[in-house]
Parts: sequence; structure tokens; C-alpha cells
Amino acid sequence: MTASAAAGGSPGPAGSPGPAGSASAAGGPAGAAGGAAGGDVIGETRREVCALHAELVRNGLVAWTSGNVSARVPGTGLMVIKPSGVAYADLTPAAMVVCDLAGDRVDGQFSPSSDTAAHAYVYRHMPGVGGVVHTHSTYATAWAARGEAIPCVITAMADEFGGEIPVGPFALIGGDEIGRGIVATLAGHRSPAVLMRSHGVFTVGPTARDAVKAAVMCEDVARTVHLARVLGAPEPLPAGQVDALHRRYKDHYGQR
Ligand SMILES: [Zn+2]
Repeated sequence: MTASAAAGGSPGPAGSPGPAGSASAAGGPAGAAGGAAGGDVIGETRREVCALHAELVRNGLVAWTSGNVSARVPGTGLMVIKPSGVAYADLTPAAMVVCDLAGDRVDGQFSPSSDTAAHAYVYRHMPGVGGVVHTHSTYATAWAARGEAIPCVITAMADEFGGEIPVGPFALIGGDEIGRGIVATLAGHRSPAVLMRSHGVFTVGPTARDAVKAAVMCEDVARTVHLARVLGAPEPLPAGQVDALHRRYKDHYGQR
């Protein structure tokens, strides 16, 4: 839990010269690892990540300063994530923190979220992931507290998650342990959400917005299946139906 970036700390080009000097002269386009794509892709990602945090609040997924959203900066080896311990009402695009994929800050006035190492691990090991979300949303976390996967008993779950929402291992915050648990658990599932045991929810998506949507849907189905469980024994959906629903949703749902 102490060796924050040790394991994955790729001896990359700009081996984090130390977080202190982040005032990057005149706020220039954090040229470090940004490369050619740098420019305002970073600014755009900061705005997107800031705006998506409001969705966590609007959907009732977070309390106080818990929870966070990050996005991979397209075309760079960077990610943008929430600052640690800053109130949701005070978040601005400029307050978002730019980190490399070892989880080290390369630009921003605040320290990054304490979950940064977990997000960075996911980006390093799941190249198709463009966004990661973490919450302690109530119903989903109640399932995590019991260490129980949410069974696929409603069509909305088959649609969005393609099966049950799995449980990942108990892991301590700070190092690679959480990220490793997320990646290992999601590898065997179609679900973009994992319930980390005794902790909360992590979701992934091709974009940060997709990951936020998965977090909202995860809490919604966690609540519904909880109520069904309280009232009786929910009936599992047959595997064939789950497959068919998931395929239809992925291939045909929405505007195209
Ligand atoms: Zn947490």
C-alpha cells in the first residue's frame, strides 16, 4: 500500500520530476508527455471531467467529497482526474489535475484524488478504456459490503451489463492493489462495473461519460434488485435471453 507507483512506475520519458514544480511556467500546454496532441485536448478534457462530476451529485451517487471521475486525454499518455478532498461545488476545469499514467501529477494546483493510482492502473492495462468512475453509491455499496455479486434478474441489467455485476477483491487504497483487482475482475465479464468488496463501485467505459452512465445504471439496478430480494426471490434471466438483450442493446439501441 505504500509503494504508490512502484510496481507500474514505468521508467517512462518524463519520470515525474517531483509533484512540487507543477506551476509549469505560465501555465503552458503541459508539454511534458502531451506531445503533438497536447494543445487544447487537455483543456477540453478538463472541462468534460469537471462537468461529469456534477452528474455524480445530480444522480445522488456521492456524499461530501467522495467519488471521482477521470478521463484519458486522447492521443497522449495522460489522464485528467478530480483533485483530492475538494468540495463538488468548488470544482472547476482549472482545478482538475493532469497526471501521467503512472499516476504522477504533471499539471494542476491540487493533489490528485487518492484513487489516482487505481485509475492509472486501469488505463495502463485496459487500452480500450477512456474513462473511469468511482463512487460509494448506497445500494451498490451495500452489495459490496456483503461481498455479493448483483444477479442479472432484470432486462436493464442484461442490456447494460450483459450479466451479473461482479465482486472484486478487498484492496487497500493508494497503490496498485485496487487497480489490479478491477482489471482482473472485469477481464472475465461483459460488465463495465465492479463492486470492490467492502468498498464501493468502479466503472469503466470507452469515454468518461459512458463510465458515468454505468455508475448511474449500477446504482439503479442495485436498488431494484435489492427491493426484489427483500420482497422475495428474484427470478434469474436465462443466459440466452441475457445474450440476446445485451446484443440488441449494444447494436441497435438509441439514435444511430
Ligand atoms: Zn472509495
